[in-house]
Amino acid sequence: MRTRAAVLWPDRSQWSIEEITLDPPAAGEVLVRMVATGLCHSDHHLLDGGYPGARRPVIGGHEGAGVVEAVGAGVHAIRPGDHVVLSVPLPPCGACVACLDALPYLCERGALIGQGFQISDGTARHHARGEDLSVFVFLGTFAEHTVVNEASCVVVDPALPLEAACTIACAGVTGWGAVLNTAEVRAGDTVVVVGVGGIGANAVQAARFAGARSIVAVDPVPFKRGVAKRLGADIAVASLGEAATVVTDMTAGRMANTVVMAMAVGDGRCTEAALSLVGKRGRVVVVNVHPADENTATINLRNLQSLEKQVVGCLAGSWDGRKGIRFLADLHRAGRYDLDSIVTRTYDSLAALPSGYRDQAEGTIIRGVLRLS
Ligand SMILES: [Zn+2]
Ligand SMILES: [Zn+2]
Repeated sequence: MRTRAAVLWPDRSQWSIEEITLDPPAAGEVLVRMVATGLCHSDHHLLDGGYPGARRPVIGGHEGAGVVEAVGAGVHAIRPGDHVVLSVPLPPCGACVACLDALPYLCERGALIGQGFQISDGTARHHARGEDLSVFVFLGTFAEHTVVNEASCVVVDPALPLEAACTIACAGVTGWGAVLNTAEVRAGDTVVVVGVGGIGANAVQAARFAGARSIVAVDPVPFKRGVAKRLGADIAVASLGEAATVVTDMTAGRMANTVVMAMAVGDGRCTEAALSLVGKRGRVVVVNVHPADENTATINLRNLQSLEKQVVGCLAGSWDGRKGIRFLADLHRAGRYDLDSIVTRTYDSLAALPSGYRDQAEGTIIRGVLRLS
């Protein structure tokens, strides 16, 4: 079939919105009519070199929701007409050591993510100008239709509004998972969230849900500080320096239990400032993507050792994305998850991609969403 997608060609620095050819779903695959896609900063990293291993030409987008139009041979749990949210970071194999250790987001198939073809047989379903197209994160949600592996699909209640629900897949699962799984926030904890974008805004809500005693949000943009307070932050400040003063006061110097680093782009020079915000056995969770060639971070190692502090990475909320999507869809239905405050602007078509990312760079949105059909 013919459909439209945002393609990044080699040696280009902007998305090309163009017609592509899409093959039918092969065995174990699903054709999805996309309803909406979120604009995650990770897609923008394809443009700025943040993912040097990603093959081009590639269809961007990995935060998607839509309606199933057809399924390939052997797909029984998903049917045409089902509403689906597409899981990240990959369709796990279910059989490797990581999968068997209940860490499917670290599945060995991750080694193929830069190649971006179908996980089932390593070939492409998406084509344009006589070339095979990769799909980012095995999804390619910057498209009006896409073909994905069945293991990427989570069937959701048709009553769930897909325009907002697409953001659950990455921002939601990552932000909530960073707090619940990676940080293991407990009732009574003090939590600092640095950066109030899609992930940070979700992390603030998760910290409130987990019973944090105090939540401090850090963002230089006043609008984002306002959103953080609406979502449950007790105090919102503009800098890590201000956060140090506030956290010292509110904990009588014992400092925070957790700092979630969720900036637009990670910066190793902030690591010591983040570590100084946590106290004994405190944990700094690094969620934000750092530049691929950043190899240095400044850390006071004496404090790290003597106070048993921890710096830990977090990929996709340290969660099986399929489980995280179900968890958050249920929470939304129960009225305990504010998705509307996450999606602060919607755009009408693929052509609005550049303006969506411009708004993101200018800090005027938390998460932008493109309507695709
Ligand atoms: Zn993302
Ligand atoms: Zn696996």
